[in-house]
Amino acid sequence: MTQSAFSSRPAPTVVRTAEELAALRPELGRTALVPTMGALHDGHRALIAAAREQADTVVVSIFVNPLQFGPNDDLDRYPRTFDADLAACAQAGATVVFAPPVDVMYPDAATAATGLGQLVTVGPGPMGEVLEGEFRPGFFQGVLTVVAKLFNLVRPDVAVFGQKDAQQLAVVRRMVRDLCLPVDIAAVPTRRDDDGLATSSRNVYLSVKERHSALALSRALFAGERAAGGGASAVLAAARAVLNDAAHAAPPVSPDYLALVDPATFVEVEQGHSGDAVLVVAAWVGETRLIDNVPLTL
Ligand code: AMP
Repeated sequence: MTQSAFSSRPAPTVVRTAEELAALRPELGRTALVPTMGALHDGHRALIAAAREQADTVVVSIFVNPLQFGPNDDLDRYPRTFDADLAACAQAGATVVFAPPVDVMYPDAATAATGLGQLVTVGPGPMGEVLEGEFRPGFFQGVLTVVAKLFNLVRPDVAVFGQKDAQQLAVVRRMVRDLCLPVDIAAVPTRRDDDGLATSSRNVYLSVKERHSALALSRALFAGERAAGGGASAVLAAARAVLNDAAHAAPPVSPDYLALVDPATFVEVEQGHSGDAVLVVAAWVGETRLIDNVPLTL
C-alpha cells in the first residue's frame, strides 16, 4: 500500500449524548446524517462518501436499535465492532460519530416494567404491513421511531440511506413527507461484492457454503432484471426459477417473499405496469435472513 493510502483524515469526534451533540451543533454547518447500526462495510462507506458531497459535516450514527428487533431476531448476536467502525468512519471522512448508549435513546428503558419504556412511537401505516413489515412485525415502527429521534437529535439538512433497504427508504421518505420533517432524503445504490452478494453486516453470519447458496438472491434479481422487457410476470417468473433451484441447493435458500412493487408505495405492480418498479426478495440461508432488491424499469 502506498503512503497516501494510510494518510487518513482526522479522527471523527465521538459524541454519546444529546447534550454533547447540541454543544457541537453551532460548528457543524450544513450537516448530513448517515444512520447505521455499525459493523460498517463498503455499503456504509458509499453512504458516507455520498454524504460528504452533500454537506460540510457528516455525522454517522452508530446505534443497534433494540426497538426494531423482534423477540426472535438477532439483537444479541448482531455484530458490534466499534473500534473498526471508528477507523472506517475516519477513513471515509466522517466528521462526527454519534454513538449513544441505549439509555440516551430510550431514557425510560431501565425503569420500564417491560420493553424500552417508549410509549409514543411512529407508525409506518399500510406500507409497513407488507413484505418486511409482514415478516417482521413492529420492525418499521422501530426504525421510524429511532430515525425520527436521530433527526431531532442531529437536526441534519440531509440524511443518506441505502437502496439496499428499499422498503425502509420508501417508508422513511413517506414519514418525512407525511410529518413535514425538515430534512432531505438522499439514496445510494446498493454496493455488492464482486460475486454479486449485497454487502451486509449480517454476511458475517454466513459459512462459506451458506454464502455460496446466498448468491442465488442476487442471481434471481439479475435474472428478473434481464426479463424486464417481458413485463411484470416475466420478471417474477425469471427470478422465481432461480429461487426454485436454490431451494434444492445445499444448504437450501428458503424465501420469505419475492415481489415486484412500486418503489414509492410498495404496492405490488400489475401485469400491464410500465415505468419504475423494484424487485425485492427476502430469504433464509441457514439461520441468516438476507434481503436484497434491484430497481428496474418495465
Ligand atoms: P444498517 O447498518 O444495516 O442499518 O444500514 C445502515 C444504512 O446503510 C442503511 O441506509 C442501509 O440501507 C445502508 N446499507 C446497508 N447495506 C448497504 C449496501 N450494500 N449498499 C448500500 N447501502 C447499504
